[in-house]
Amino acid sequence: MTIYDKIKRTLQELGVSDAQGVEALFAELRKTAEQERAELVSRGAPDQPQRERFCKALRDRWLARKGGFLSQVDQNWLKPAGKELKPAVGRQFNELRRSSSGLEFEKLIEAMPLEPEVAKQMELPLASDSSRAAPRDLTLPGLHRPLGSIHPVTRMQREIEEIFLRLGFRIESGPEIESTYYNFDALNIPESHPSRDDWDTLYIDAKTVLRTHTSPVQIRAMEKYGAPLYIIIPGKCYRHDNPDSTHSPMFHQIEGLAIDEDITFADLKGTLDFFAKMLFGEKVRTRFQPSFFPFTEPSGEVAVSCFVCDGQGCRVCKESGWIELMGCGMVHPQVLRNGGIDPDKYSGWAFGLGVDRFAMVRHDINDIQLFFQGDVRFLEQF
Ligand SMILES: [Zn+2]
Repeated sequence: MTIYDKIKRTLQELGVSDAQGVEALFAELRKTAEQERAELVSRGAPDQPQRERFCKALRDRWLARKGGFLSQVDQNWLKPAGKELKPAVGRQFNELRRSSSGLEFEKLIEAMPLEPEVAKQMELPLASDSSRAAPRDLTLPGLHRPLGSIHPVTRMQREIEEIFLRLGFRIESGPEIESTYYNFDALNIPESHPSRDDWDTLYIDAKTVLRTHTSPVQIRAMEKYGAPLYIIIPGKCYRHDNPDSTHSPMFHQIEGLAIDEDITFADLKGTLDFFAKMLFGEKVRTRFQPSFFPFTEPSGEVAVSCFVCDGQGCRVCKESGWIELMGCGMVHPQVLRNGGIDPDKYSGWAFGLGVDRFAMVRHDINDIQLFFQGDVRFLEQF
């Protein structure tokens, strides 16, 4: 009696009364499935439609709900099995259904070797044991690989860098996880100083923070290169801010630092005025107002006349005619000293600006979150 006949009969009719007998029956069934697969593979398949037909036929034969071999096993072996045999039959049956060696017909068909004629026609490599290629439909449309573009913040950063590179500055970078010494102390912000509270700092431990500004790199660069020094420092900074349309816990700054003999506030004004004109157009004017930062003395805020309305007042400048650009000032003598530079011989200026804000002003974007949400519909516009 073949296995095909056996699955039409119950275990009782077959005289199987113990687990061993059940195991033997299922082993025979599994072997038959494997033989059928092997036979199919050995025949090969000329083209994709025919492969699919073979595959479907084999699948139906074994897996069809009505009359498929497995369904017959379920009906004739499992369901009528007595209490004692049922667990063994159930286990074997489930194993067979799960079995990856037994019934993964689809995969099997895909792996079938091509006939030499067809492979030649389609200019595909001939199937061999080491490489079996499935036929490809060469009339299908090609894969679309979207290229993406440069992020608006990165673009802004590069544009700013470009201007300072032309002026002879070079780009410097430093760690985003920073010691409190470089982030605060060395910048003239001792622990007791009330202005330390101005930064909503994210602490890693008592002595380590996520840098709240790019300024720590000023000290690192002074230590590394000494004076004279002309650098800009682009990078990510972190503060404990709740995200809203103008705040993000991660944001981008660019810091500028110039240290040399006889550097004065006039150099600072001249450089930043040139920078503003390069970035926003020849027509803009700059405005300096006094301010306070612990690491510069004197300190100032720079604004530029609105490049949209030329100072008349509009939505971009919030009707003020001016756009705040950055903070700046002459490097505090103590900061120079902390960086190992003699303040009696050298002087310098520094500034710090928010790249994200620059990009927002430039492109009239009213929500900083848009930069970091990765929404392709937003990013595609740049
Ligand atoms: Zn305006």
